[in-house]
Amino acid sequence: MSDTPFTVAIDGPAAAGKGTISKGIASQFGFAHLDTGLLYRAVGRRTLRGMAPVEAAQALTAEELEQGGLRTAEIAQAASKVAVIAEVRAALVEFQRTFARRTGGAVLDGRDIGTVICPEAEVKLFVTASPEVRAERRYLELAAKGSDVTREQVLSDVRERDARDAERSTAPMKPADDAVLLDTSDLSIETALAKAVEIVEKVRPANL
Ligand code: C5P
Repeated sequence: MSDTPFTVAIDGPAAAGKGTISKGIASQFGFAHLDTGLLYRAVGRRTLRGMAPVEAAQALTAEELEQGGLRTAEIAQAASKVAVIAEVRAALVEFQRTFARRTGGAVLDGRDIGTVICPEAEVKLFVTASPEVRAERRYLELAAKGSDVTREQVLSDVRERDARDAERSTAPMKPADDAVLLDTSDLSIETALAKAVEIVEKVRPANL
């Protein structure tokens, strides 16, 4: 196996398909995967329990990400609120960069991976879809888990979170200049993943 780092940065808004594409690429090529949204969600959960955001980010442990229970709508909103704080973001940078440059290849998905965390990533994708399509996907996921949210609530949450993520001054969500855009609004997840795999395959070193 090559020691040279190989990073795939996948950014984009909630429910665009980043998670599925990232896991698919990791499994296809044997890369490690980090869903960086979990870091902000874990900090958000700590703040819901009364901790101050910066302190929560500085005290975060890798084990906490494995504990589960982080994918609720309430925690998503709390995550996007702590994510506007520059010191919270700063506390999480090193963990993400170390992960990105590990041996054997890494896929990281989030909002600022290609722009701030890993501007040197070998592959950068910005995965997006219309707010309506994303809200419908998220609604179906939440409903399948037994949540009683309405479609309207989910769409308004998606829009609120998009606005907060794109308009914040520190590390706003936006495609890197050299990112490949992948709009999944009209694609099946299989087709979206196949396109992403093709993009990675083109630049992946043969010995990785
Ligand atoms: O991707 P996920 O929906 O789990 O992210 C939750 C929130 O965490 C996002 O709405 C965003 O505010 C924040 N986040 C971020 N930067 C990342 C990943 C997530 O600001 N790299």
